[in-house]
Amino acid sequence: MKFFVKELDYSTRSRVEVIDITSDVEGVVRESGVRNGIVLVFAPHATAAVVLNEAEEGLMRDIVNKILELFPREGNYAHNLIDDNANSHLASAFLGQGKDIPLVNGSMVRGTWQNILLIELDGPRARRRVVVEVIGE
Ligand code: ZN
Repeated sequence: MKFFVKELDYSTRSRVEVIDITSDVEGVVRESGVRNGIVLVFAPHATAAVVLNEAEEGLMRDIVNKILELFPREGNYAHNLIDDNANSHLASAFLGQGKDIPLVNGSMVRGTWQNILLIELDGPRARRRVVVEVIGE
């Protein structure tokens, strides 16, 4: 069994932003040499998220708008007594920071419309990390 870990770094430009990281993750999988196993994609952040969905421009805008609607910046948030980003933490808590993807015969098993999307929830940030771990053989 092999464990291969690589970190991907992104800079973000907006408060809420969707970034398609599928090809970068595929690159890590290729580099790992692992053919069968599991791919863990994890953002070690409390105000970012990783989801699987379609990387269509309109849908990516819809995702941003729905997040802003569901988690408005202004609100009666306890966390904002010590910080100003409770809505970012809440969105991250509900969306989740990682995904596990099966790896079969060298390819991640994904639905046609399942790209790997990093969601910035408290940007812009100079550096957002995504840890990709490929486990298998
Ligand atoms: Zn905070």
